[in-house]
Amino acid sequence: MTPPGPAMERLVVVSGPSGAGKGTVVQGLLALRDDVWLSVSATTRPARMGEQHGRDYLFVSAAEFMGMRDRGELLEWAEVFGNYYGTPRAPVETALADGYLVICELDVQGATAVKRAAPEAVLVFIEPPSLDDLSLRLRGRGTEDPQSLSRRLLASYDEVKNKGLYDHIVVNESVGKAVGELFRIMDQLKPQKGLL
Ligand code: 5GP
Repeated sequence: MTPPGPAMERLVVVSGPSGAGKGTVVQGLLALRDDVWLSVSATTRPARMGEQHGRDYLFVSAAEFMGMRDRGELLEWAEVFGNYYGTPRAPVETALADGYLVICELDVQGATAVKRAAPEAVLVFIEPPSLDDLSLRLRGRGTEDPQSLSRRLLASYDEVKNKGLYDHIVVNESVGKAVGELFRIMDQLKPQKGLL
């Protein structure tokens, strides 16, 4: 990871196993707050049905991704489930400089890289109530083929093992409750004057 810019204490990394509902929880938070900005990652993974370039991800080719990485345009990057994912640096730094609380949804490698480079960043782990529940949710979502499903379930066990790295653990028993917890975590951070 390239050295971070200023205001990293307002950078919040949200991680959690695939299917833990972190996307839904983050969207619930965004609906309630206008002082939070969500980073859009670049990925080489193909778009899923309904996903939009620029909104859900920047869907790029491997060559484009490597170009961004080699030019130092990514705050962090990782290979996850056979694809590359990375956080474009400039938009995050602009949002922080504009006074926003910034959320990046990253895997555990990304969270570790951010914490190493910016210990003041806040790491939040969103956990399903149980791994059985996770398996049900991931199957129910219907977005993965059987191979990707089992790969994601196996990786979930590893992600949950790493939750000790995180500053806060939010158990997603109900979306409303989890959004409330994330809301309170954001409240403990310092938004820049003028935004609220
Ligand atoms: P999905 O393919 O389900 O959208 O994401 C797979 C995993 O990659 C999730 O754990 C997600 O949080 C993580 N991820 C998404 N964007 C990034 C990124 O920019 N960097 C890193 N390190 N992980 C990411």
